[in-house]
Amino acid sequence: MGELELIDRIRSGWRASAAIGPSPRVRAAASRGVVLGIGDDCAILRPPRGHEVLVTTDFTLEGRHFRRDWHSPESVGHRALARGLSDLAAMGARPLAAFLSLALPTDMLAKRAGRAWVEHFFDGLRDLAGRVGAPLAGGDTSESPNDMVLADIVLVGSAPANRALRRSGGSAGDALYVTGALGGAAAELAAMALLNEKQRGGPSKKTGTIRASDSATEHPQLFPEPRLAVGQALLRRRLATAAIDLSDGLSTDLAHLCRESGVGAVIEAGKLPIHPLAKAHSTTEQALGFALNGGEDYELLFAAPPSVRIPHTLVDVPITCIGKLLRGKGISLIEQNGRSRPLKPGGWEHFAVRH
Ligand SMILES: [Mg+2]
Repeated sequence: MGELELIDRIRSGWRASAAIGPSPRVRAAASRGVVLGIGDDCAILRPPRGHEVLVTTDFTLEGRHFRRDWHSPESVGHRALARGLSDLAAMGARPLAAFLSLALPTDMLAKRAGRAWVEHFFDGLRDLAGRVGAPLAGGDTSESPNDMVLADIVLVGSAPANRALRRSGGSAGDALYVTGALGGAAAELAAMALLNEKQRGGPSKKTGTIRASDSATEHPQLFPEPRLAVGQALLRRRLATAAIDLSDGLSTDLAHLCRESGVGAVIEAGKLPIHPLAKAHSTTEQALGFALNGGEDYELLFAAPPSVRIPHTLVDVPITCIGKLLRGKGISLIEQNGRSRPLKPGGWEHFAVRH
């Protein structure tokens, strides 16, 4: 399969899937945003009237962000897109279009199993894209120079002018909230490492075949759910002063938000919504470590003034108050025993180094 044939397949695959999106409203909004998609020198996008354009880009590199023997191809496609969507979610934006540049090992396209991998990769990407209305509107393909799969995704979104949520809007006294649960992605990754350790010498029988239909909530590492609807609700209802998505881990991403807002923070260990997977086979200390430093949960962290009442759920996603922003610098953690200690950024180190 040559490059042109691959592009043709992507294009026809996208067209076919455009008919099975989540709702006519989401589909219509998505197709309105893309005036011209795959096939010309450029895509042409049209943001809604009164909106600004937001752009984010993320690498997904084999060996650094995923392993072909641990992550199913559907998971790799899903995660590549989810990372970009999560950045849009953090700013309250809605997706306009996605662009994918993909480098594949030469022998992958020559072998049937390799071609199947590529098709399943696009299945994972397209399932999520169709659900949230993020049409694939262009990209590039190339032979990978080093036998690794490399994907670079660009997400273009839009938000009402001057309204996008930023990291820099927080003030001392604002309460801090997170969506969903923390530590699940890191806990699942640790479980995958253990499983593959036991099966060393052969490909994973289990994690490499998990598909999105096996349930996204049970697989926070393989199929994280970007919080687009929550981000858009925060923006629309003017609830948040600042927001960031939790890609690198709470301790690291909270430090980013504090630095940009020029404030410090305190959070309480006892209030953190720890994912059931993180608690399942771990000590309390390990579970807390997953939640604070695990990364890849793609939940949102946001600040809101104490005068603003934040509901317990937003678009069916649980919202938990975990602390507040303070004057000055530095972040402290109040432990379960009531003692306070400084919280250093201890976030995401890619697993290729850890193992
Ligand atoms: Mg981000």
